[in-house]
Amino acid sequence: MSTASSSTAASTAPVNYPDVLLFIDGEWREGRGHDGTRAHEPIVNPATEEVIGTLAHASRADLDAALTAAEKGFATWRHVVPHERYKLMRKAAEILRERADTIATLMTLEQGKPLVEARLETNAAADIIDWFAEEARRLYGRVIPARAAGVQQVVHKEPVGVVAAFTPWNFPINQAVRKISAALAAGCSIILKGPEETPASCAALVKAYEDAGLPKGVINLVFGVPAEISAYLIPHPIVKKITFTGSTVVGKQLAALAGLHMKRVTMELGGHAPAVVFEDADLDHAVKMLSGAKFRNAGQVCVSPTRFLVHEDLYARFVDGFTEAVNKVKVGSGLDADVRMGPLANARRVEAMEGFTADALAQGATLRAGGARIGNKGYFFQPTVLTDLPADARILNEEPFGPIVPIQSFTSTEAVIAEANRLPYGLAAYAYTTSAKRADEFARRVESGMVSINHHGLALPETPFGGMKDSGYGSEGGIEAIEAYVNTKFVTELGL
Ligand code: NAD
Repeated sequence: MSTASSSTAASTAPVNYPDVLLFIDGEWREGRGHDGTRAHEPIVNPATEEVIGTLAHASRADLDAALTAAEKGFATWRHVVPHERYKLMRKAAEILRERADTIATLMTLEQGKPLVEARLETNAAADIIDWFAEEARRLYGRVIPARAAGVQQVVHKEPVGVVAAFTPWNFPINQAVRKISAALAAGCSIILKGPEETPASCAALVKAYEDAGLPKGVINLVFGVPAEISAYLIPHPIVKKITFTGSTVVGKQLAALAGLHMKRVTMELGGHAPAVVFEDADLDHAVKMLSGAKFRNAGQVCVSPTRFLVHEDLYARFVDGFTEAVNKVKVGSGLDADVRMGPLANARRVEAMEGFTADALAQGATLRAGGARIGNKGYFFQPTVLTDLPADARILNEEPFGPIVPIQSFTSTEAVIAEANRLPYGLAAYAYTTSAKRADEFARRVESGMVSINHHGLALPETPFGGMKDSGYGSEGGIEAIEAYVNTKFVTELGL
């Protein structure tokens, strides 16, 4: 990052939003086009629609430089012993914590989320680094007892090599930190294509690693035209592992390309999480938890509860209680301390929310709250509640990725499990019940990579994070996350 291009007052101190550069081979730099020209794109504050900075774009030559640097970085980093990797990563985490207020303000300016959420995200990222740093020291192989005397059988875990990572704009730091930290813990180097719309906080994460003393080339950060960068990096022979977070449509394209070139892949894709409120649920608790979770990051969360399914006995009371809670959600600039929900991150999301709402209403749905854009400056949309939806309403079938809640009723456990499993997604699923038997049945039968019952307890560093079906494969948390960055090598030796 370099010079300041705009300044905005945060709740604590003024923070200058920087022009964001590429980070290649340990150097922050402009993109270097073939013809000497520099490509940039504007960075827009979603709360004001003002341009707050510019972002450098990588050319093919920059990507080649990043590839060479990452190859060199891997040759160095793979031989840095895990204890040293651990120490450096812990230092990066401390730096991130020290800078959390400033970084959070950058994130709110570029992404829109309330400062409190941006601060939480930054501090959570430091926790994620700490956890992966510790795991670097525990990347054990194993000794397998041999069948023959004199034979020693050993399993080694070796870093896969150079990683190409692609991360989106909804959690500018958190999506990146999981990939960077798992890769580094395993001994890999990485080229990260960060989120073009929210680049400064992601760049600040990389800077924390730089300032902690990471050798040149171990992390490289590029931005540009996503499809061009992925089409070049994924097949490239230097790259050995692909990791992507984003939509299922794009994930399938990238996984197909990776498959063609036999690359290791982690895909963290879209979801459409059922949130089931059974007849024996603690209703007040369910309303409180679901209204709290739903509007985090304005609903732009892959594990957001998105299909509310409430038993008919509780349905009317749930709809009333939930709508009342929704009407209290204060929407505004994320820089204002009392705001619960900021703007959506970009104009595409507002258009999507308008489309979902119009489609549902045209098909006879009832609007219980919200339903419209707020004002005409900034990408604000009202927290929205819809009921009486037909089964083919788009909102019940496509990932909303925004602050819209469709509530349906159900009559039997069989019916609700079938509905929960109806879609090709399988990322997160939620249930509210006071019956241990029902909780257990739901957890076993729901087709979902993550299940959270009576609370929203997903996405901790130490717990697996990933989906099944069209929501992707691989994990971005827990010990499984590091496994994705290592090759298993079996060595058997007859001692002579
Ligand atoms: P999109 O599908 O165009 O982009 C999603 C992400 O993928 C962005 O970060 C984008 O830069 C990246 N991307 C797109 N095409 C790419 C390509 N060919 N190669 C590499 N990266 C590529 O849509 P969008 O408007 O940015 O987001 C809309 C949808 O994306 C949402 O509705 C949601 O389903 C999904 N999304 C999911 C997550 C998540 O956390 N899983 C995050 C952001 C967006």
